[in-house]
Amino acid sequence: MSERNLTQEEVDALPFENNLSDGHAFRSWTDAEFAIIADSARFFSESDRRGGRLAEAEYIRRYLALGAQSYIPEHFTGLMSYSASMAVEIVANLLRLRGLSVALIEPCFDNIADILRRHRIPLQPFPETVLTEGAAALEGLLETLTADAVFLVSPNNPTGTVTDEQAFTRIVEYCRAEGKLLVLDGCFRVYLSDEQVYDHYRILADSGIDCVVIEDTGKVWPAAELKAPFLSVSPRLTGEIAAMHSDFLLHLSPFTVRLITEFVRLAEEDGGRYLRELVARNRTLFQNAVPGSFLRTDDTRKLGLAWLEVTADGLDGERVRRLLAERDVHVLSGERFYWNSPHLGRRHLRMALLRDPEVIDRAAAVIAGLWAELGDG
Ligand SMILES: *Cc1c(COP(=O)(O)O)cnc(C)c1O
Repeated sequence: MSERNLTQEEVDALPFENNLSDGHAFRSWTDAEFAIIADSARFFSESDRRGGRLAEAEYIRRYLALGAQSYIPEHFTGLMSYSASMAVEIVANLLRLRGLSVALIEPCFDNIADILRRHRIPLQPFPETVLTEGAAALEGLLETLTADAVFLVSPNNPTGTVTDEQAFTRIVEYCRAEGKLLVLDGCFRVYLSDEQVYDHYRILADSGIDCVVIEDTGKVWPAAELKAPFLSVSPRLTGEIAAMHSDFLLHLSPFTVRLITEFVRLAEEDGGRYLRELVARNRTLFQNAVPGSFLRTDDTRKLGLAWLEVTADGLDGERVRRLLAERDVHVLSGERFYWNSPHLGRRHLRMALLRDPEVIDRAAAVIAGLWAELGDG
């Protein structure tokens, strides 16, 4: 395993064409999306910070509606952020200042664990397997949890594991009964299928627990890294978090808010179906080109990412990653997603799907070629 973190590897891969490393949205625009880009000079000249708060509230309401979430401004305070990681940094400061330990979902993107650790927040793993193995598994974990806060990512990056309504309701009830704080990172919620969507915001508001929900658009819309993440903060945490937030940010650009609201408006027209189908098509392209005897898809199809298990004997994720990098295809290997037990990710790779089909096609051809070269294809 190399010393560099996953984001540093993603930065290294930025110059390359076959870059399937970061999960950010990087693909060509549709005609309708391009019309928004073409109009953006007008949004820029029209943006007026005096209307900022109203525009942010409108954006938050519509973004949440796209994910079938209640907009409850009397309960949740919405605070805009430059990046979801900055939102995590703010939460980490809160947890440190309050002296709270955290049960953090495992696996997850390494920067969440890294940020929390940098604040010396004691971490306890919350294995995502308890979310899919039935109520008894979850109860078993909850009985052993000693941490003061629970930090979930749903759908989870990299596996796409979803905290379903039953599990989420149980965890919220646990937090209420035990006086624990809940952090939910919902950055990939747009990729959930209709039958998996339920109302996080209503459940959280009704429970009255202390909580922060982190939302993001950077893994959804290709807006040249302009994005409109935000934190939704429950009433008792708002004063402290809003003060801290103001140390980082006076006001997110009203241009960015307007631009992303336009992307949301477009997605409203088909309920986000195009966004999900694009990823599904790329997934199928890949699976049709790369034999499952080499790399098997091991995710729930709920992300703009694929989590692949190296099924071939005698190979692991890091070895395959290196062989692919030598052939100019850039992906991430799995160990660092398992921040507590890296060996659990040893056989995995993470590959971005939010790319143009030609990029996926080219990369898949190289990957299939590698398999043939290794003599087993
Ligand atoms: C990418 C990601 C983040 C960080 O997002 P940035 O806006 O790139 O900082 C946070 N949480 C999850 C689950 C992510 O996948």
